[in-house]
Amino acid sequence: MAEGRIIQSLSGYYDVDSGGEIHRCRGRGNFRKRKITPLVGDFVEFEEGYILDVLPRKNEMLRPPLANLDQGVLVCSAVEPEFHPLLLDRFLVRLEAEGIHTAICFSKMDIIDDGQYARLEQFALDYREIGYEVILTSADDKEGLNALRDLLDGKVSVFAGQSGVGKSSLLNRLDPDLQLKTGTISESLGRGKHTTRRVKLMPLDSGFVADTPGFSSIDFRGIETEDLSFYFPEMRERAGECKFRGCTHIAEPKCAVKRALEEGEIPEYRYEHYKQFFEEIQGQKRRY
Ligand code: GDP
Ligand code: ZN
Repeated sequence: MAEGRIIQSLSGYYDVDSGGEIHRCRGRGNFRKRKITPLVGDFVEFEEGYILDVLPRKNEMLRPPLANLDQGVLVCSAVEPEFHPLLLDRFLVRLEAEGIHTAICFSKMDIIDDGQYARLEQFALDYREIGYEVILTSADDKEGLNALRDLLDGKVSVFAGQSGVGKSSLLNRLDPDLQLKTGTISESLGRGKHTTRRVKLMPLDSGFVADTPGFSSIDFRGIETEDLSFYFPEMRERAGECKFRGCTHIAEPKCAVKRALEEGEIPEYRYEHYKQFFEEIQGQKRRY
């Protein structure tokens, strides 16, 4: 029996990487009964083309289905399409809720003008203040590629972000052998286009990267309103100073989050997004 890691799944088969060799396996017959679904990223025991057991997971994500991730890398383009923190915050909340450490990567820095640059630097400062690592990159003029390489080194990372922001271009720059297809923006943002690329971990340096087109839209399924503020680190760390336990930081008096907001320690847009997501989750609830 050997151990390895699933790096790809395709119609009932799993490609298991064991010391750099790929073994194509099927799940054991009794997996269905034991309600075991091997995921890409799983460490498994296998023998003669069969996965015998799936080892305990550090974490798992259902959409896209991936296990044992070390970090998420949220790629946001500085321009084309123009950066807006609302979508970034949606991704951040989703990944915080999954318990996945996340870094932010601004892309296409080569095509922004001075005004846009100043605006983006302020956002970078805001998010660093919250505790996120932020790197500024360009696939075209290679800005920030070393920082990106260091970030990914030795880890299993999932690249997330709207299509067209330059995820594939960045990965191709880091490793031309990946040969990921890059699209024009108009093409990749086209509605109704169903990309059915399979979930796959691609080796990159000493780590792996999952580039998943399925990870371009997000909802807050499974997140409760009372937990939402935990997924905003700047609120999470202040919640203990609120007068009321379980403070939602919306209407309660003596709220440390609202105080920080008034004092300019928490950016207004972050708080507005919090309230917006809060209402969205309430709305989802009412529909069930
Ligand atoms: P993905 O959908 O996130 O993988 O994005 P792609 O890598 O396919 O890139 C989408 C479009 O943006 C393509 O037309 C790229 O040529 C363009 N693009 C990607 N990275 C950069 C960059 O750093 N600078 C500029 N100017 N364009 C870029
Ligand atoms: Zn509060």
